Amino acid sequence: MTRYDFVLLDADNTLFDFDRSEHEAIRLTLEAFSIPCTPETEARYVSINSALWAMLDRGEASREWLVVERFARLVKELGADADPAALNRTYLANLGEQSFLLPGAEEVCRSLSGRCTLAILTNGVASAQRGRFNRSPLAGLIPHLFISEEVGASKPSPAFFRPVLSALGVTDLSRALMVGDNLISDMGGAAALGLDTAWFNPRRLPNPGPVRPTWELATLEQLPPLVLGSPDF
Ligand SMILES: [Mg+2]
Repeated sequence: MTRYDFVLLDADNTLFDFDRSEHEAIRLTLEAFSIPCTPETEARYVSINSALWAMLDRGEASREWLVVERFARLVKELGADADPAALNRTYLANLGEQSFLLPGAEEVCRSLSGRCTLAILTNGVASAQRGRFNRSPLAGLIPHLFISEEVGASKPSPAFFRPVLSALGVTDLSRALMVGDNLISDMGGAAALGLDTAWFNPRRLPNPGPVRPTWELATLEQLPPLVLGSPDF
């Protein structure tokens, strides 16, 4: 008997190589606006962007505001002359075309598909997330894609998780597992509702707490034996 019937998967930096997609998309975007894309510029963008998304995780910012604000801050720092909203539109269009999977993601989803219900639960902008998903081999393996912009709430809020569990028909919470790389939005959000959690931690980072995931995965290949109830997991 499988250990879990429902496997809920985060997308970015769990199944998809978001860092690589972001790198390509920001380079193409800055080039389109004739802004030199140096490693320092890119590092500044990544730093500004991740700080703003951390604000969203804490409920201190809205997605609509932050996606433009990240470019407003970058343009200001660079002293460049470009419209932040236009930069963001171009960036999102570019991002939706950059679809790279992490090693093992396709094989792991292929081995679980048909043996349990797979769903992706992701924060982000729907056009970019859906574009990358549809361009990937996962589109044929994972039947459910829940994006915060379409759900109307973001991980880790229960207002995101509750309608997702209801749409999937999860009645026994002990039969569902949330898998993700983020201790707050993925692990904390799911644990607050009583779900088991598996922290994807390939870099083996220390856990500063307070969230204590049920399981920890160093590689995606560890997921099928966990889900399928292998006694040696
Ligand atoms: Mg993630």
